Amino acid sequence: LCVDHPLGPGQAVPLTPEQAHYLFSVMREGPGARVALFNGRDGEWTAEVVAAAKKGGTLTCLGQAAPQLDPPDLWLIFAPIKKERTDFIVEKAAELGCARIVPVQTEFTNSQRIRQDRLQAHALEAAEQCLGTFVPEVTDLVPLRRLLDGWDPARRILWADESLVGPAETLAGLAPGPWAILIGPEGGFSEPERARLRALPFVTPVSLGPRILRADTAACAAITLWQSALGD
Ligand code: SAM
Repeated sequence: LCVDHPLGPGQAVPLTPEQAHYLFSVMREGPGARVALFNGRDGEWTAEVVAAAKKGGTLTCLGQAAPQLDPPDLWLIFAPIKKERTDFIVEKAAELGCARIVPVQTEFTNSQRIRQDRLQAHALEAAEQCLGTFVPEVTDLVPLRRLLDGWDPARRILWADESLVGPAETLAGLAPGPWAILIGPEGGFSEPERARLRALPFVTPVSLGPRILRADTAACAAITLWQSALGD
């Protein structure tokens, strides 16, 4: 379970009504049950249920099961597509170890609105699912132009550019440091957007292979390639 509470030896941790419902009604656990807890800062802790009620409960931390494992400094920037596919991208980016997920509005972005709170909840579920101790932040939708205007060039952008027909790059020669992967919408980037990206010194275009991938597939492929070159 992910909790918004400090974790440490003997620490009492209160449950929200949703967590209590999940633990006691859905999972049918009760006092004495052992639960794995994390909060995104203090690693994973084993805790014991000491009080269970319909709308709440309390756990006590017993001991640390795993140290805090923060992901490498990789962000994913992507243009939201259909709802289920957008959910999929956020879920997989969290599972594959992105530190931050940034939805952007581009000229051909299919969806002009997102539910940031829903996407953040998906990221949290994904982190819980893969027993991660870190939950990536999902930011609100931002226009690509504005994002690039205020970009810190110390973080390089790996632009998945489908026009670079050819074998998938190995990414072995990428410079270490903070990176963000950029994936376009189903319709790709417009010519003015492509021209701007080409002109920016901190943007590196890469091919993910000779086939045009769906945006969600491209996101998974690019994150995996980056992780195998520079990740943990
Ligand atoms: N512009 C395209 C079209 O309509 O033919 C398709 C865009 S593709 C479905 C969505 C995004 O996935 C692209 O903007 C790009 O970022 C990424 N992508 C897909 N296939 C790729 C490839 N082979 N190499 C690099 N990026 C790719």
